[in-house]
Formats: sequence, C-alpha cells, structure tokens
Amino acid sequence: MKILVINAGSSSLKFQLIDMDDESVKAKGLVERIGIEGTHFKQNVLGTDKVIEFTRNMADHTEAISAVLEALTDKENGAINSLDEIGACGHRVLHGGETFKGSVLVTEETMKGIEELVPLGPLHQPANIAGIKACQAVMPTKPNVAVFDTAFHQTMPPKAFLYGVPYEYYTNLKVRRYGFHGTSHRFIAGETPKYLGKKPEDCKFIICHLGNGSSLSAIVGGKVVDTTMGLTPLEGVLMGTRSGDVDPAVLEYIMDNTGMDIHQMLNCLNKKSGFAGLSCSSDMRDVKAAAAKGDAQAQAALDVWCYRIQKYIGAYNVAVGGADAIVFTAGIGENDTAACADVIAGLAFMGVKIDPAKNQRGVCGIISADDSTIKVLRIPTNEELPIARDTLEIVSKL
Ligand code: ADP
Repeated sequence: MKILVINAGSSSLKFQLIDMDDESVKAKGLVERIGIEGTHFKQNVLGTDKVIEFTRNMADHTEAISAVLEALTDKENGAINSLDEIGACGHRVLHGGETFKGSVLVTEETMKGIEELVPLGPLHQPANIAGIKACQAVMPTKPNVAVFDTAFHQTMPPKAFLYGVPYEYYTNLKVRRYGFHGTSHRFIAGETPKYLGKKPEDCKFIICHLGNGSSLSAIVGGKVVDTTMGLTPLEGVLMGTRSGDVDPAVLEYIMDNTGMDIHQMLNCLNKKSGFAGLSCSSDMRDVKAAAAKGDAQAQAALDVWCYRIQKYIGAYNVAVGGADAIVFTAGIGENDTAACADVIAGLAFMGVKIDPAKNQRGVCGIISADDSTIKVLRIPTNEELPIARDTLEIVSKL
C-alpha cells in the first residue's frame, strides 16, 4: 500500500508518497504561498529525474491537494498511474493535547477533538485541519489518519509537565507542558537502541533534535520522561527564530517600553528571536560564517545556543538517572559536526568524548571515543515515516 503523508502549514504543504511494501519514498514535494499571489509547486519523483515545478495561484489547501494529486498521477512526470494506488493519507497534526496519546483515524468524533484543540495551537492546528479537510474533499473514499506532534511526549510524569502556576489553570485550561517534534523523537527513540545493541526497555538516553526548531528529550525504556518544549514550541533551547526559555517578566518589561501588545510580543519571541534576534540570520550556517569573520554578536549567539543545550543535557542526565547515550539529529545535528563537537566539549569533565575520526557528516551511528563514559550518536531523523507507519497500522485494521 502507498500512503500519502501530508504536513500542512498555514501557507505551505509538504507531502511524501511512501510505498509501505519497502518503506521507500516514491515522490516528495512542497507547495508554498498557498492563498498568496504566486503559489509555487514542486514535486520530485525519487530515483528518477522527473520533476514537476510551476507557479499558479492556489486559493486554499483543497486546490493545493488537487494539484498534488494531479502531479502524482501525471502521465509523463508522475509517480503513480492512478489514485487507486494511494491507500490512505497520514497527516501531521500539531496538537493532541491530553485527548490524543497516539495516532487516530479521522472520524467525525476525532475531528471534533482535533478542532477543540485549536486554542492550544492557534497558528498551526487550523492549517493541519485544512489539510485533512482538503483530502476528505478531494479523495472522499480514502481514510485519513491524524498523527500528533505531542503524542509521544504524553508519557511525561506530572513532575515534568506541570508548570508552577495555580493548579486550576491545568485543570480548567489544560495549561501544562506538552512537547513537540514527537514523530522525530519517536523515530530516534526507536533507532537508538539498535546502535547500542540493547533492548529499548534497557536504554536511557537523551535526544537532541537540533534544527531550525530544536528540542531535547529524555528517554527511559523507550518512553519520554521530559522534553524541552512546553505548552507551545517556544520553550526550551535557543532556536532559529524562537527565543527558548525566557523569564516571563521580560514580556511585560519589553511591552511596557515598546508599546507592543501581547500578540506582537509573542510574534517577536517566535519569529524574530533566537539566532535571528541575537545575530544576523536564523540559519546556523550564516551565523557561523559571520562569527568566522570576527562578528562578536554572532559568536555570542553560537555560545548561547551551545551553552543552553549543554545545560539541558546535564539536566536530562539527571532526569534519566545516568544516560547511556546522547543522540544528535535534524538539520544541525546531522550536518554540523563541529557544532556537535562543541556541545560535547562542555561534557568533557564527565568523561564524554567525541572521536573526531568518527564525527563525520553522513556517519550514522556512534561518533564518540571508545572510552567515552556516555556514547554519542548521530542518527538522521525521519518525521514522515512514523506518520506513514501509524497510518498503515490504523487503516489495516479497518
Ligand atoms: P527545520 O526545523 O525547519 O526542519 P532543519 O532540521 O532542516 O530545520 O534544520 C535547519 C538548520 O540546519 C539550519 O540552521 C541550517 O543552518 C542547519 N544546517 C543544514 N545543513 C547544514 C550543514 N550542511 N551544515 C551546517 N548546518 C546545517
């Protein structure tokens, strides 16, 4: 069976067509500027030179999904002969709240539950819902499965997920820490024990998903015991455009002095902070290039980034009760070997050591020295495959 994996953002839509017979990606693509002048479409059929790329205004996600299906079945440059080959659609959904602890088939009832969580993810949840509704409109006979970014973190105990605020905000408003990047952390949590040569239930490790958005998770026996993101993806380490942890009183102080309202303030913390706020760009490569030319502000941004990750690794070493491994993944974790080495350099006093010969781009597996007290690994993440696997599992039972 082939599964169409959809990741719908407010004005974009990423998709992959995965053949579950061998879990290979048949086609992948991106629609950008949906609902904005000049919608851009690109699809690649993997293992071939077939590309479909064009600019044509698309008013909404339904038009975008129609374009995806046209491209996938294009006679010349498509990936499949007919839509009959697609068994189901799997959707990335931002927020599952406490309602969804795992993936679910989209039904009237589950859709209601997903819609009820819009207030917890006002920017992304409506887009995810639009993606599901678009598939229902264009392919009414295909089942849809919702896979939540928060679900894998639902195993966190109250001591990790409760904020120190009046308890009624938790009971009445569901204010608590949820965590995000769940499909990535879950994929890596599944892969890591294979490299350690241990059963998942016997492993304790720390996952560092370091990309434009970044989060760490503490894993014991295959389950999350803590993670750095909170009610929203804003909490935790420094990111491309997100501030990570700040003293909440900073908001009042800045707002009083600039006249910003709370929405502008949060927009600033989400979109104009992190590397972008402290330095010249949200992209680690640009920040590094600036620092290499002697830009002290760029260097300070890199230092904040590195130090905060080191502090969380220290904290999560306690959370798991002594880690067997630290795993790097995502854009920076997979590609920037020097940044990973810098993070680990701060753990030298604990006997954690990188082996420079193993710490290479493209190396998948252990990158620490043989005598390192904690193993260090680099494993490429895959955020789509867990969505496709869950979708297959759920629709196979129908
Ligand atoms: P997203 O959260 O958008 O999925 P990614 O996981 O793709 O982000 O990560 C983007 C980050 O990875 C950027 O900061 C980028 O600089 C960094 N990155 C990607 N490739 C490289 C590379 N070859 N060397 C260093 N950093 C890289």
